[in-house]
Amino acid sequence: MLSNSLIEQDRAHLVHPVASWRGHEQSGVRLLKSAKGATVTDAEGHQLLDGFAGLWCVNAGYGQESVIEAATRQMRELPYATGYFGLGSEPAARLAARLADRAPGDLNHVYFTLGGSDAVDSTVRFVRYYWHARGLPQKDQFISVQQGYHGSSTVGAGLTALPSFHAGFSLPLDWQHKISSHYAYRNPVGTDPQAIIAASVAELRARIDQLGGADRVAAFYVEPIQGSGGVLVPPPGWIAAMRAVCKELDILFIADEVITGFGRTGQLFACEDEGVVPDMMTTAKGLTSGYVPMGAVFLSDHVYDTIADGAGAAAVGHGYTYSAHPVSAAVALAVLDLYEDGLLENGRRMGARLMAGLQGLSDHPLVGDVRGRGMLAAIELVTDKDAKTPLPAAAAPATRVFDRAWRNGLVVRAFAQGVIGYAPPLCCTEAEIDAIVERTRLTLDQTLEDPDVRAAMR
Ligand code: PLP
Repeated sequence: MLSNSLIEQDRAHLVHPVASWRGHEQSGVRLLKSAKGATVTDAEGHQLLDGFAGLWCVNAGYGQESVIEAATRQMRELPYATGYFGLGSEPAARLAARLADRAPGDLNHVYFTLGGSDAVDSTVRFVRYYWHARGLPQKDQFISVQQGYHGSSTVGAGLTALPSFHAGFSLPLDWQHKISSHYAYRNPVGTDPQAIIAASVAELRARIDQLGGADRVAAFYVEPIQGSGGVLVPPPGWIAAMRAVCKELDILFIADEVITGFGRTGQLFACEDEGVVPDMMTTAKGLTSGYVPMGAVFLSDHVYDTIADGAGAAAVGHGYTYSAHPVSAAVALAVLDLYEDGLLENGRRMGARLMAGLQGLSDHPLVGDVRGRGMLAAIELVTDKDAKTPLPAAAAPATRVFDRAWRNGLVVRAFAQGVIGYAPPLCCTEAEIDAIVERTRLTLDQTLEDPDVRAAMR
């Protein structure tokens, strides 16, 4: 069978991201063959609802003809143009202008990358250059948030606060620091939003003091909703409060909107939910809806001007061969058309339906927490609701819950700590959202029958 030989080729030669390499040799790959709308079809012809939009990226849904046409047209006309030597391309210029127009506040300058990790990495370089240009190179300490994810580059993986991204990699962690997550369900200060905000503000101030004061701290990184840490939604006002501390102390505030950008939480950018304008903002994923790789760093006027004036006539030595790739830019423009011609609105309606549906699962014996905003949501499974006891490691939630959902015709993200994550395409219909919820209920019922789960509940 064709798929068997492909699985063998994959097993023998393809190194998968964030996977156990030996585990992959054992289990092999599930090949996906095609996709349309919110449905993916595997190599055996099984159809599944993609409740996670690939890797929270296919926000516009699969098979959008206008996007395919835009890419084809651009490939035919001009498949590549460098941004070096003062050259450029029409779609890149159009896209930068359109993004600057849509971005919050004075985020008027856009540097294009290939994805999220190099967008974060680029901000680190810009932050450092900025403080050098201001004559304050000693401001060289970075702070991010526990459970945060900021990509997989050597520097970004340090801002990321997930253990498997650190262990064994000898990252430059001596100048990268963390404060606790707002994680409301398991916050030591309780669930009261004001108490959580006050605790985070106090911890950020204390960490800054500990590092020698604001004179030493360059930047603070946040995700408006922490994604890979388990879809952790801060209480309303948290982002604005952290932004205010950074403004007061002259510390750059970087919003990592790689997941939350482009309609995931309802607006084009999640920062807009609280009227926050960061100094820099990173995006990727929904920018091109996953059809081709692209990320974007947004720079505010003052960051841009400081770096530009600091460099003067000299080149700012940062750039990639594929920055502002014309095919990616053409795709992003077509995807933006879709968002603005109804997908954002549909996503808002479907997001409300998804949240209501998931809330309806709260009475299930395994559901400890339901959280989310827009088309970004999670449920956290526990074996004891009062004690908030996580699923035991023996129940292997990351694989077993994923497998059960898969067999029920649903793709979700199953986190190792027993969290199920949802980020469906914004084009979902009501029937598809309802099916996501129903297939989740079935998956939960089957998980309840897992002997390792039952043993932990006794
Ligand atoms: N930042 C955030 C918040 C992310 O969620 C991700 C990826 O999931 C990244 C950065 C890295 O993006 P990429 O995987 O495109 O390099």
